[in-house]
Amino acid sequence: MAAAPALKHWRTTLERVEKFVSPVYFTDCNLRGRLFGATCPVAALSSFLTPDRPTYEEAVQRDFRPAQVGCSFGPTWWTCWFRVELTIPEAWVGQEVHLCWESDGEGLVWRDGEPVQGLTKEGEKTSYVLTDRLGERDPRSLTLYVEVACNGLLGAGKGSIIAAPDPEKMFQLSRAELAVFHRDVHMLLVDLELLLGIAKGLGKDNQRSFQALYTANQMVNVCDPAQPETFPVAQALASRFFGQHGGESQHTIHATGHCHIDTAWLWPFKETVRKCARSWVTALQLMERNPEFIFACSQAQQLEWVKSRYPGLHSRLQEFACRGQFVPVGGTWVEMDGNLPSGEAMVRQFLQGQNFFLQEFGKMCSEFWLPDTFGYSAQLPQIMHGCGIRRFLTQKLSWNLVNSFPHHTFFWEGLDGSRVLVHFPPGDSYVMQGSVEEVLKTVANNRDKGRANHSAFLFGFGDGGGGPTQTMLDRLKRLSNTDGLPRVQLSSPRQLFSALESDSGQLCTWVGELFLELHNGTYTTHAQIKKGNRECERILHDVELLSSLALARSTQFLYPAAQLQHLWRLLLLNQFHDVVTGSCIQMVAEEAMCHYEDIRSHGNTLLSAAAAALCAGEPGPEGLLIVNTLPWKRTEVMALPKPGGAHSLGLTPSPGDSAQHGLCSCSSPHLAAAPAAPAACVRSARAPTDSASRPPPTKTDGSVTLDNGIIRVKLDPTGRLTSLVLVASGREAIAEGAVGNQFVLFDDVPLYWDAWDVMDYHLETRKPVLGQAGTLAVGTEGGLRGSAWFLLQISPNSRLSQEVVLDVGCPYVRFHTEVHWHEAHKFLKVEFPARVRSSQATYEIQFGHLQRPTHYNTSWDWARFEVWAHRWMDLSEHGFGLALLNDCKYGASVRGSILSLSLLRAPKAPDFTADMGRHEFTYALMPHKGSFQDAGVIQAAYSLNFPLLALPAPSPAPATSWSAFSLSSPAVVLETVKQAESSSQRRSLVLRLYEAHGSHVDCWLHLSLPVQEAILCDLLERPDPAGHLPLRDSRLKLTFSPFQVLSLLLVLQSPPH
Ligand SMILES: [Zn+2]
Repeated sequence: MAAAPALKHWRTTLERVEKFVSPVYFTDCNLRGRLFGATCPVAALSSFLTPDRPTYEEAVQRDFRPAQVGCSFGPTWWTCWFRVELTIPEAWVGQEVHLCWESDGEGLVWRDGEPVQGLTKEGEKTSYVLTDRLGERDPRSLTLYVEVACNGLLGAGKGSIIAAPDPEKMFQLSRAELAVFHRDVHMLLVDLELLLGIAKGLGKDNQRSFQALYTANQMVNVCDPAQPETFPVAQALASRFFGQHGGESQHTIHATGHCHIDTAWLWPFKETVRKCARSWVTALQLMERNPEFIFACSQAQQLEWVKSRYPGLHSRLQEFACRGQFVPVGGTWVEMDGNLPSGEAMVRQFLQGQNFFLQEFGKMCSEFWLPDTFGYSAQLPQIMHGCGIRRFLTQKLSWNLVNSFPHHTFFWEGLDGSRVLVHFPPGDSYVMQGSVEEVLKTVANNRDKGRANHSAFLFGFGDGGGGPTQTMLDRLKRLSNTDGLPRVQLSSPRQLFSALESDSGQLCTWVGELFLELHNGTYTTHAQIKKGNRECERILHDVELLSSLALARSTQFLYPAAQLQHLWRLLLLNQFHDVVTGSCIQMVAEEAMCHYEDIRSHGNTLLSAAAAALCAGEPGPEGLLIVNTLPWKRTEVMALPKPGGAHSLGLTPSPGDSAQHGLCSCSSPHLAAAPAAPAACVRSARAPTDSASRPPPTKTDGSVTLDNGIIRVKLDPTGRLTSLVLVASGREAIAEGAVGNQFVLFDDVPLYWDAWDVMDYHLETRKPVLGQAGTLAVGTEGGLRGSAWFLLQISPNSRLSQEVVLDVGCPYVRFHTEVHWHEAHKFLKVEFPARVRSSQATYEIQFGHLQRPTHYNTSWDWARFEVWAHRWMDLSEHGFGLALLNDCKYGASVRGSILSLSLLRAPKAPDFTADMGRHEFTYALMPHKGSFQDAGVIQAAYSLNFPLLALPAPSPAPATSWSAFSLSSPAVVLETVKQAESSSQRRSLVLRLYEAHGSHVDCWLHLSLPVQEAILCDLLERPDPAGHLPLRDSRLKLTFSPFQVLSLLLVLQSPPH
């Protein structure tokens, strides 16, 4: 036994212990230097390089050439496969033997044709355990393969993580050898590091801190690194310390292994597939060695990838899921963005996700999981409820730049009043390492002290995968119950939330959206991705509706369930929180554009197929099938194709048709057939009655006035809006002395996260873009449509052209815009100063809308200087308002009385080319009297986004118009019509409706389809046992509360034969 320590110098004692475990200093004589013993080179090493990502079976057939330690390989995104032949020296019998492998890139070890472990230096995985204890009769020679991807855990950014990838980067193998591993040394190192952490973390006014320090010091005294027989005494000292337990009131930390894998970000989708394999196979290996280890894994898409590419690994994941160690969480297809996806798309994230988890792992997830997403819609609580989930975990609001969120554990009440239990791990991270510092931070940082005595602690390398290590587990296991620290248990999210639920009486409630006060540029960055997302949401909506109608009306029609599932999954994939947000590298953006193109082209094929089925068997000449896919009647000017590729304008349906077929009285979705050849539509498309007939644009002094009898639009000679009048009331919508349609350019240089962030100070750099007088010209002269157009030079490099269009009967004026955009760190917006005063503006969100302030009173107000909206925003005072609609934009703001739509950004990282080039988009302005609800703003925004379809009818189109559904209340939107998901319900449709005004309402749904039974169901289409709805005269009565979403299962009658 060493002499009692005579001194009590804090610093020297602490640093002495630090040097004893240092990987840098005194490794010739300290404990760290003894971690490994004898070494031995591998017997043979060979490799081949490929730009592809071949499977194991393909790879082992390839031509391996001799390789050496020190060799370099690459470039970026290539793969180097190594064959490693090794022979363990006989003298090592009885020892633990590792393959020590250090290389750049991300490695995966294959043994006997199966992946067994990831090897990534950045993820602290540089050794593969060949044997825990080499037996005398164990085979000592074997061949392994190591598949090394030429990218780091976080891609291959040139100079900084988020810089665009360096395509020329080369990678090096710096170590490949066998070594004896001293497990006892490792355990002592873990203890000493923990003791140091406790000493430092608890500090000098805490006696437990000194106990830890002196225990560590005493361990150094008794431990001779060169004499393993001295280790047990040191271990006993540590065990005595860690075995001193805390009291009953100790906080409990639930440590769950995790590995956040961005589905695509600084690397392409295909690399993510391999990241999953590397990370999860490593987690499985840890589960085998540590039966108490629990690992939470989200994102069905990633599991689906592994299932198809690594079936053996997938079976093992299923096996460990049965044991409760591999825990699927989240319930969604990917960890999607929480702001931009439509309500229906969010439902589909869960529908596709939960069904996958049920099918592959025997149960659905009970926790929603979005640790890294950039804000959370106020409709998520209701959507979660509808998908069987009452618990939600995230931590991203800890990134708030302005306000510190007041809770870590709380109830979240959504737009409709649905409540879920939310937990933010108080350590503000999902990539913990198991250190004492993090454990202490979790307790100290908890903003619900005294209310919630349990916290989540997610450990493991993340973002680019990696996951937990044995060392992390060793630390956490050692800290299970030690006086001075919280209790630490390896636990599952279910256990955590159950503990929180059982004592939730004192928790606070947060109402409305969880807005992230950062990353507000992601509503705008990569405009083409946003546009693809919006368009594809529309296409899938239309395909499902038409296919459902075809299913109901035709015996022959086969609903394209498998294709639609494929296309939906593709859309959902691109709603991942670094794709639709535009925060990905160029390679990913290009892949996303290909995915959208797939959805468009396949979607259009499916639309045609459904149209053909709907036309079959009906009398009437061939022509066009005009389809309104929205649930209310519409009369709109539409461009109808003429032979030879030209178009002509027509009013659809013509007033005559409306009267004849009753389209005015009921609604929809309308299925109106062009009665004859396309020309017939045009012929019938006469300008309606006097007050609405107009508009030859009038032109005086270079300005142009458009007037359709509903609104009158006056443009100045440069295309700016000087007046917008609601004709009936004479009310002016543009602020006095101000001009609307004013393009403005801002300097847009964030602090770091280029593609993500627009900072508050950008507002101080506002520069109006001024055009030249005389550029405004009349486009269409009038009749059904009047328009004017102009060119605008935005900067020496960028220009814009715009057509301002006003149609007969239309309550809004549209601005078709084309921009050639070549900028760096600039932000383009368009502004409309309104003659409206209100302290709140309204923005559309998923299945509803919400208000945000138009002023900067408090820090919570001004932190929302840039917000997101879906298809419309509105600024209203009593009796009058102005709405701004859009067809593919998401960034917005209203400050004072200025409505502003965010159009284009020009960030340079991680994609140097982001948003450069040509863009096309449309926004529209709708002044209205009364409330926006009564004025039909919601319907107008739908119309702008869902144009009437004119589909070629290969066989005779129905001669008469027909409407499948109609609703008695304008407050209710029929959002979705689709076939039921379950294969046993192939002749059932699912309808999704929501209350859009924010009101309690009773509503009749009229059906003209052959329905035999109607049942309420949840968002996962599970029937509500008490949900049978009486069907009287083809009508159903539905009762809604504000913003409530309802789903119905309609069982169709068998078709007539
Ligand atoms: Zn992420």
